[in-house]
Amino acid sequence: MDYGAFRREVRAFLDEALTPRLKRAGQLQTSVFADFEATMEWHRILYRKGWVAPDWPPEYGGTGWDLIQRHIFQEECKLADAPSLLPMGLQMLGPLLIRYGTEAQKAHYLPRILSGEDVWCQGYSEPGAGSDLASLKTRAVRDGDHYVVDGSKIWTSMAHHANRIFCLVRTANTEKPQAGISFLLVDMATPGITVRPIVGLDGRVEQCEVFFDGVRVPVENRVGAENQGWEVAKYLLAFERGGHHFAADHKKQLRRIARILAAEADPEGRLRGEDPDFCARLAAAEVEALALEYTELRVKGGLAAGASPGALSSLIKVAGCEIGQRLDALALEAAGLWCAPFQPEALSPDWTGTPAAPDHALTAMACYVDNRASTIYGGAAEVQRDIMARHLLGL
Ligand SMILES: Cc1cc2nc3c(=O)[nH]c(=O)nc-3n(C[C@H](O)[C@H](O)[C@H](O)COP(=O)(O)OP(=O)(O)OC[C@H]3O[C@@H](n4cnc5c(N)ncnc54)[C@H](O)[C@@H]3O)c2cc1C
Repeated sequence: MDYGAFRREVRAFLDEALTPRLKRAGQLQTSVFADFEATMEWHRILYRKGWVAPDWPPEYGGTGWDLIQRHIFQEECKLADAPSLLPMGLQMLGPLLIRYGTEAQKAHYLPRILSGEDVWCQGYSEPGAGSDLASLKTRAVRDGDHYVVDGSKIWTSMAHHANRIFCLVRTANTEKPQAGISFLLVDMATPGITVRPIVGLDGRVEQCEVFFDGVRVPVENRVGAENQGWEVAKYLLAFERGGHHFAADHKKQLRRIARILAAEADPEGRLRGEDPDFCARLAAAEVEALALEYTELRVKGGLAAGASPGALSSLIKVAGCEIGQRLDALALEAAGLWCAPFQPEALSPDWTGTPAAPDHALTAMACYVDNRASTIYGGAAEVQRDIMARHLLGL
């Protein structure tokens, strides 16, 4: 494999396919999610090219690229400012259905994830069930060939855009709470579902509450056996934690910091990039980002060989998120007072007003506050450390 030629092929495609609006959406992305319309436009472009699901096996619509090619692709997309694709269908549900879905579920849902026709959200967390997910209370009671679902989910990312939700529901009250959970695929248009948006710290909506009131879900929409949903859910979580490409994120963050450092000076007129204390802290974070890149490649090597990343995905997640948070804090420090104006509308690629901060500093504050959540979602960092202690260190 000539990786240099592959990288050039990817770059040439990105040069041609990324419109200025799509690139703007990528530049203004401050969390896992970019502007929704731009994200789906980019999804459809990649689908038509056959590059939308590089991590899937080729027989299900993957590209057949090896690990290094996929790494190169993710890196080039990030550095070309492509908006990130939604992970819930491509990175979470898709691999899960490939492993646990019936033939009918695979045939129906996988092509719709690939084409972007179905937009999925993840209904795991509840007001009383986050880290302690097995205590979830949303109930599904069998009524003939349907389940009737009652309860509520919270922090459901993109539920206001999604037309489908995959949910963990309680189908039995067992002594061990994990043994009474099932995994359901639900159409968001089913009567009895209400979505209530939550406004985030950056002033925008990404998460929602989702309420279920007598929602009828066909039994054939269950993935895995009844009361065996915990095993299915855990398989998905390992992909959620291990499926992200932190190295590409960190490189984009470092590039953002470099732009700020080149433009911003302290009150004495010294460029921030000339401050030795700041530079030492930046260099330390950059070294850790590089070390993580190789660890990530090692774990993805296991994934490529068909293994579930297991507890190693917890290690990647904690380190990836914490390095990302350090880089965002450095960007905030470098951008200084430009972080004070609160202007959420300036982060839309379609906004035509006058921004209060220069372009290089426009996203620093929103990136910082949005990224605080990264050590909470997908499993809080403290809980990930417990998993590592138990499963990797045998403590
Ligand atoms: C931006 C964002 C997006 C999200 N998107 C989704 C989504 O799309 N779908 C979805 O289902 N959920 C989503 N979540 C929810 C997320 O998974 C939960 O917030 C997370 O699991 C933590 O649960 P909690 O918020 O109930 O906090 P809690 O579990 O109450 O934790 C509170 C604190 O206690 C600590 N703690 C808890 N248990 C332990 C323990 N055993 N040992 C040590 N410390 C512990 C935690 O680390 C944390 O610091 C999202 C959350 C955020 C912030």
